[in-house]
Amino acid sequence: MKKILVLEDETSIRSFVVINLKRSGYDPVEAGTGAEALKALEENPDIKVALLDIMLPDMDGFEVCRQIRAVNSKMGIIMLTARTQEMDKVTGLMTGADDYVTKPFSPAELTARIDALFRRVGGGDDTPSDLIIQGPFRLNARNRTVEKNGERVRLTQVEYAIVKLFMDNPGRALSREDILNAVWGRDYFGELKIVDVNIRRLRIKIEDDPTNPTYITTVWGYGYKWGF
Ligand code: CA
Repeated sequence: MKKILVLEDETSIRSFVVINLKRSGYDPVEAGTGAEALKALEENPDIKVALLDIMLPDMDGFEVCRQIRAVNSKMGIIMLTARTQEMDKVTGLMTGADDYVTKPFSPAELTARIDALFRRVGGGDDTPSDLIIQGPFRLNARNRTVEKNGERVRLTQVEYAIVKLFMDNPGRALSREDILNAVWGRDYFGELKIVDVNIRRLRIKIEDDPTNPTYITTVWGYGYKWGF
């Protein structure tokens, strides 16, 4: 069974989500507060994906996300946002979330997002191949790790997938649509903005000077290019 954490304090919404996840073959673990969620994750190390509500009684979902990321870079994280402000989405992604779903959402939409994230977190479609070494970077596709100057860079699965795409296409300008399709999949419902936010986060992790990026350069009005 595919275990998934459902953090939502409103019991009616939580039950609705849980029922639909069970129908789709998932094994939901429920939490109503941030503290309960963190405890549930400790007790269930086999949870691979977490759905995090933002407005909670004890702490906000961004803080829960930050605390998960501090110890686990591989967990798939989807924020459930009630508000539709762009800032919420950006804040969520900058704290380490992989995706967000805006309430009210349909069960089909939520399940599609979760299925897509599970595929990425599982990494089953990545054929093991050789090391890719470019400039200071060394990517190991077998264990999905990236090193810069011999030091491990802690990446989320999404960030890893973006770096892999870049390293497979050095020097080639990739459109934001190319990146979205390759990393999130063609069935992804979201917006192109998610590409920019992930690139911004990635630059902070891998650039010598994130304000003056040299590895991931912007191709204005088009997308991004990997090079040295
Ligand atoms: Ca709430």
